Amino acid sequence: MTTGLFTHAACFHHVTPPGHPERVERLKAVLAALDPIPGLRRFEAPKADRAALLAAHEETLVDAILDAKIPDGEFARIDADTSMSHGSAEAALRAAGAVVQAVDAILAGEITNGFCAVRPPGHHAERGRAMGFCLLNNVAVGALHARARHGLERIAVVDFDVHHGNGTQDIFWNDANLFYASTHQFPLYPGTGSRSERGVAGNIVNAPLAPGAGSDEFRTAFEDTVLPALERFSPQFVFVSAGFDAHAADPLASLELREGDFAWATERLCDIAAQHCAGRVVSSLEGGYDLHALASSTAAHVRVLLQESVP
Ligand SMILES: [Zn+2]
Repeated sequence: MTTGLFTHAACFHHVTPPGHPERVERLKAVLAALDPIPGLRRFEAPKADRAALLAAHEETLVDAILDAKIPDGEFARIDADTSMSHGSAEAALRAAGAVVQAVDAILAGEITNGFCAVRPPGHHAERGRAMGFCLLNNVAVGALHARARHGLERIAVVDFDVHHGNGTQDIFWNDANLFYASTHQFPLYPGTGSRSERGVAGNIVNAPLAPGAGSDEFRTAFEDTVLPALERFSPQFVFVSAGFDAHAADPLASLELREGDFAWATERLCDIAAQHCAGRVVSSLEGGYDLHALASSTAAHVRVLLQESVP
């Protein structure tokens, strides 16, 4: 058994305006860093189907993204920092489709766990609104697919991106069998993620970190808050919203994590998945805007997934 790597060239064709941090070069840096890692099983992501998208999103949002007709070289603005280009709709469909395919490959016994090297990212996309560089909530689409197609009940998402995943929280809020836990800088965009946001049944767990917090504060938040709650939830599948913008070198935020912190968090999550659900973990790329830190952090994360995929 091994780790799957899910990606598609269409993810290069979501183009953002000049100077935008969420840029094509991010995915190139990630794939270049993963290329020398031996033993990954590579998959070409399909497009997510409409039914999978509609489990997580309102039809008006899905239609607005799929039906967008944007001439080559132009941008359709969604909000101050989110836009679509000619290739964005297919990129978004492949990004969500990667997570869906990773779920299917794990539950078919082809791989133990998987990493989706995709863009646009997803965790800010709410049920009815694209925002924060995100068009569709890739991880939420995959999580709800695991339920609809495979009959799993208790599904967890852990999000260590430096920003709070308001979109995943929004989609999971009213369902006690969907668990979302996040460490993130607070205050910071998008402004949600205070400790008092708990969901309908304590199924949302927010562990905000003050600007300047580093390895010690992050690991304490994981050990005292995120991991015990995940254990109590007893997940049947674990998803990771893997953003690497909490790295000290990242230009968009001011946490001080290093590659070793991401590797450590990945190990802890894989350990819980091994105890509760045969190691089933799908991780999907969210943020990370310093290309060097993004590449080295992603490689550290995927090396742990690979190491944990061998029983
Ligand atoms: Zn982020």
